Amino acid sequence: MLDTAQKLIRKTGKKLGLSNEQVEELINTDAEHNFEIQLSDGSNYKAYRVQHNNRRGPYKGGIRFHPQVDYDEVRALATLMSFKTAVAGIPMGGSKGGVSVDPRQLSKEALEELSRKYVRGLKDHIGPDKDVPAPDVNTNAQIIDWMVDEYEKLSGDKTKASFTGKSLENGGSLGRDAATGRGGIIVLREILNKLSISGPVTIALQGWGNVGSFFALVAEQEQPDWKLVAATDSSGGIYNPEGLSAKELNNHKKTGGKLAELKLGKSISNEHLIGLEVDVLILAALEDAVSDKNADALKAKLVLELANGPITYEGYEKMAAKGIHVVPDILANSGGVIVSYLEWLQNKNHEHWSEEKVNKELENYLVKATDEVYESMKKHNLTLKEAAFAVAISRLVS
Ligand code: NAD
Repeated sequence: MLDTAQKLIRKTGKKLGLSNEQVEELINTDAEHNFEIQLSDGSNYKAYRVQHNNRRGPYKGGIRFHPQVDYDEVRALATLMSFKTAVAGIPMGGSKGGVSVDPRQLSKEALEELSRKYVRGLKDHIGPDKDVPAPDVNTNAQIIDWMVDEYEKLSGDKTKASFTGKSLENGGSLGRDAATGRGGIIVLREILNKLSISGPVTIALQGWGNVGSFFALVAEQEQPDWKLVAATDSSGGIYNPEGLSAKELNNHKKTGGKLAELKLGKSISNEHLIGLEVDVLILAALEDAVSDKNADALKAKLVLELANGPITYEGYEKMAAKGIHVVPDILANSGGVIVSYLEWLQNKNHEHWSEEKVNKELENYLVKATDEVYESMKKHNLTLKEAAFAVAISRLVS
């Protein structure tokens, strides 16, 4: 993911006429912190926080608890975050953090201890006007609430603006849960209009987690011309050209079921999903889902990167050569960080907005951002992915 992000920055920077020095400045991180967390049972975990760029505002980025977390992953995600906040047009920078741990192996008490010790290790480097963390993979509102409490004890700060993704009772924002999926719908709707791709628009979706499920559920309510024809989770999934009900799929997932168990169509594997002949393929699961190994199989007209880094650089080059449009992660999934910023803003101003107001603000930011990316694509003769990086670069170079 780091390699892909850096290659795109270098390629687009060159096309825009930036000097090598300017490009390297965009790639370099401002600060990198790592430390060991020891729990009272004697177990040790490696913890990280990478602060990539704060020229446009306080650093902003999630915290991931996962066994595969390492410096390169955190660097890549911090870099993408700076470009994401810049494309979205919000006054924040980019950072990311994580702990190399499998949280499913920890008791609730150990998880709380780990979360509080993560904050203690970073207390001098985070805060409402320095670096504002949020949840990411395997972290949630409960973990963030523990972290805010720890930060308040250490700093005396009572604004709740030190973290976003808090529970509603603790200063969280309405609309945050659905924000990334909803944001993906707004971006896709705008791009389809601009490319004159009209309904019925067939969609295949990889990943039925937080992002993918909200995308499908909200789209079913608000986009009658879109037809979900295939969906997978880590077990595989189903394909039905007549269409699938997102609500039905979600009800099954909520009871602990797997999509592949449903008898609503033909069983498919994740590889099969990637090669389906659909208008739009949505990648909402993992990084590197499409690479040079399977990019040739793609038949979709357009791919929406709802996950972070789901296409490798080499996979992307193959798709670009075939004329497949790729709506990049830094635009497609920026709804999450936009609403995180709105949460921070509400905390700072001691306000609590209605969900309607949050969604309206999200819509405004994303319609504008998508328009700017599309205009840049036409003006500089770039792909959509390069254009999103170009818009961000123009806002990040000094
Ligand atoms: P999640 O853990 O809730 O969901 C991930 C989903 O992917 C699960 O349904 C899982 O079964 C599925 N999956 C795992 N391996 C798979 C495979 N091989 N094939 C198909 N599906 C597979 O995570 P999430 O919060 O939905 O995040 C998904 C992606 O979106 C991540 O890259 C994350 O960084 C990114 N993202 C999330 C947010 C957010 O607000 N949650 C914001 C921006 C970006």
